[in-house]
Amino acid sequence: MLLRHTPTEITERTALTINPAKTCQPIGAMYAALGIHGCLPHSHGSQGCCAYHRSALTRHYKEPISASTSSFTEGASVFGGQANMLQAINNIFTVYNPEVIAIHTTCLSETIGDDLPQIKKKAAAEGKIPEGRYVISASTPSYAGSHVTGFSNMVKSMAGMAEPTGKKNGKVNIIPGWVEPADMEEIKRITGVIGVKTILFPDTSGVLNGPLSGEYKMFPEGGTTVAELKSTGDSKGTLALGEWCSADAARELDTKCKVPCSVLDMPFGLMATDRFIDALRTIAGVNIPDEILNERGQLVDMISDMHQYLYGKKVALVGDPDQLIAMTEFLVSMDMKPIHIVTGTPGKKFEKRIKEITKDMGCKVNVKAKGDMFLLHQWIKNEPVDLIIGNTYCKYIARDEDIPYVRWGFPILDRQGHQYFPTVGYKGGLRLLEKITGVLLDRKDRDDSESKFELVL
Ligand code: SF4
Repeated sequence: MLLRHTPTEITERTALTINPAKTCQPIGAMYAALGIHGCLPHSHGSQGCCAYHRSALTRHYKEPISASTSSFTEGASVFGGQANMLQAINNIFTVYNPEVIAIHTTCLSETIGDDLPQIKKKAAAEGKIPEGRYVISASTPSYAGSHVTGFSNMVKSMAGMAEPTGKKNGKVNIIPGWVEPADMEEIKRITGVIGVKTILFPDTSGVLNGPLSGEYKMFPEGGTTVAELKSTGDSKGTLALGEWCSADAARELDTKCKVPCSVLDMPFGLMATDRFIDALRTIAGVNIPDEILNERGQLVDMISDMHQYLYGKKVALVGDPDQLIAMTEFLVSMDMKPIHIVTGTPGKKFEKRIKEITKDMGCKVNVKAKGDMFLLHQWIKNEPVDLIIGNTYCKYIARDEDIPYVRWGFPILDRQGHQYFPTVGYKGGLRLLEKITGVLLDRKDRDDSESKFELVL
């Protein structure tokens, strides 16, 4: 009963967030930067911010997160952090020699007004950036947007590394958005099976889901290489998965290098995956191989087999916009009823899209962008649900209200597996469905009377 004081009565709040459904921008920028091979994320601010961002990612991915900081003290906080940044660039290339330093700002350096592009120019002019090494940057003030905005801003900076040569490379850029390393691996597997040559960026597979080999590597094998990022400007097109995470980078490539882009939903669930596969088929001009058709058929089969347990079940969802849009569509396609949906990331477009997806459900749907988990709990108190899907913070609500709960999204602090098992694509859909039906059937087994308790479900 940790949240027993949450009242049922909902009052309008505009200047107070309770139990946020988001975290701060630099965490997203740091995660994105780790998807470049040989990249050291750098936090331009105080040590405390950097320590928090690293630990937030470590707790989710269960991997050490390397990142450096400008280590602001009182002087830099008042007069600006240019001197710290220049010293940091020099130290980092001298000591760690990364291929890329990816700098993001924090609330502090943004409030002072530090101008990263100008500091980068000064560093280059003073010879602090060695030949063949790169410094990219993103503005990530945490008092605006969310971790999703920070991720998007850093991915847009990666698009800025494109160097078109005028000669097409025959590849398709795929910007996967903030998904797990296992999801990035699965997207590469799917495109490989279909026969599409791709550049995936960012790509944290092999970085944050690597094996324990007994040998420490400051820069793991995985990640999109600098050569690939440069080559994105020569690709024949870009598929951006997710409006919030990936669209800005895709549009940057379109504007800067005339690489046409399509913005799709993240391929979670049957229909969003169908659209992703169809987009790949169209770009590559190939037929869909039987291997992919079989995977689709397996997902459809499992949905049909389990439909009796899914039909009409009410669901509460919390997470990030791109994931929630695809998940809501997946649940609706299986005749479930996602009735309470909250994201901490701002954007009225999100509410509009969810309303479109749920319009034929025949019941009221509560949806809020820039909402919080306190509001979600209040909605659940007013209209209980059969299932909660969301990050680890949902466990308090699930426990208090005794509701089955599937962990999905960011952050997951108390379970393992999300880095290794994908939830994108048809195979990922099977995994999601297995998790959903697993908790619903566990609850049925727990609550059924002895006369209804069955061996075979
Ligand atoms: S000060 Fe800003 S950037 Fe630093 S941890 Fe807090 S919200 Fe995040």
